[in-house]
Amino acid sequence: MNLLNHLIARIDIDGPLSLADYMAECLLNPKYGYYSTRDPLGASGDFITAPEISQMFGELIGLCLAQTWLDQGCPAPFTLAELGPGRGTLMADLLRATRAVPGFHDALDLHLVEASPALRQLQSDTLKDYAPNWHDGIETLPQQPLFAVANEFFDALPVRQFLRDGIGWRERRVGLSDGALSFGLGPIVEQSALSHRIEDTQDGDLVELCEAAAPITGAISERIAAHGGTALIIDYGDWRSLGDTLQALRNHAPCDPLEASGMADLTTHVDFETLCVAAESAGCAFSRLTPQGVFLERLGITDRARALAAALQGDALKNLIAAHRRLTHPEEMGNLFKVLGLYPATATPPPGLQS
Ligand code: SAH
Repeated sequence: MNLLNHLIARIDIDGPLSLADYMAECLLNPKYGYYSTRDPLGASGDFITAPEISQMFGELIGLCLAQTWLDQGCPAPFTLAELGPGRGTLMADLLRATRAVPGFHDALDLHLVEASPALRQLQSDTLKDYAPNWHDGIETLPQQPLFAVANEFFDALPVRQFLRDGIGWRERRVGLSDGALSFGLGPIVEQSALSHRIEDTQDGDLVELCEAAAPITGAISERIAAHGGTALIIDYGDWRSLGDTLQALRNHAPCDPLEASGMADLTTHVDFETLCVAAESAGCAFSRLTPQGVFLERLGITDRARALAAALQGDALKNLIAAHRRLTHPEEMGNLFKVLGLYPATATPPPGLQS
C-alpha cells in the first residue's frame, strides 16, 4: 500500500474528494503524509523558510514578542506558543535572543502546536533545554496570556476550491480518470461561506475557502482578548485571495499537485481577511497587513545584519548579505510574505506593525 493506492481505494468507496480532503491526506495522513513522515525543510529538503534562511528572523520575532510582553506589563505566567514550528529553528533563535529580557524566560511556558511526529522529534532535540509541551490543536493551549507566532503555518492548512457558476458554486474535486487522479467539478451548490464573494467575482472565477483557518484564529484571539498577549502570523497571501493558488513543491521545484502525492509540499496563499474577521468576532484587534520586508526593517534587521557582519568575512559574509536581501527585498520574500498582528483591543499593536 502507498498513499496513491489508499487515495484510489478511498475515491472508489466515497467518490471524488474535496481538495481539502486531498490536501489533508497528502500532508498529514499518519502513515504516508508529507509532514507526518519527514523533515521537508532546508537546503536538502523541498523548500526553505525564513527562519532557516537566517537566525535574524527568529531573533527579531523574539524581540518583538518580548517588547509586547513588556508593554503589556510583563504578565506571568504566560504561554509562549508556536504553530507549526518545523525544525524548531525560529523558536531556538527567539529564545536565545530574549535571554537578556529580565523575567521573560522565568514567566514563559513553552507550547508547540505540531501535527507531525517526525517534526516533534526534531523540535524536541532543538529545544530540549526548554521543556516544550506539544499540542495537536489550538484548543488545548492554556487559558492565560498568549504570545504566539505562526510562520508558514496557515498556508499548509487544507483549502476547498470553488468555481463560480451563475450565483452558485461548483466545487473542484479530485477523482479518477482512467485509474489516475484527476481534477473535476461537482454539481452547482449554494455556499453560504462564500456569499461575500458574489460581489467581487464573475462566472468562471475560482475562489478558495480554508475552513480550518477561522476556528484556529478564533481560539487564539479569544485567549488574547481575555488574558492579553499577541500573535504574529506570517505567510504568503493577501487580504482576499482570487484564483487557484495551490502550489506543489518538490526538491525546491514546482510539480503537479496530483503527482507524487504525499511526497511534495502542498500550500495555498493565505486569505488574511478570513483571519481578521475571525479575530474581530472573538474581540481581538488586528494590525494592518504589513509586508515582511517592511516589518523586518522596522524591527532593525539592517542594524542586526551589520552587527553580525562585523565578525564575518568571505563566504559567510556573502551568505549573510544574501540572507538579508532574501528576507527583505520586494522581489524576493519582502513583499510576497505578509505579517498580521493580533492584539487586545485595549493595547497598542506589536512593534513593527500599525493599527
Ligand atoms: N514554521 C516553520 C515550519 C513551516 S512548515 C518554519 O517556518 O520553518 C509547516 C509546519 O506546520 C510544519 O511544522 C508542519 O508539520 C505543521 N503543520 C502543518 N499542518 C498542521 C496542522 N494541521 N496542525 C499542526 N501542525 C501542522
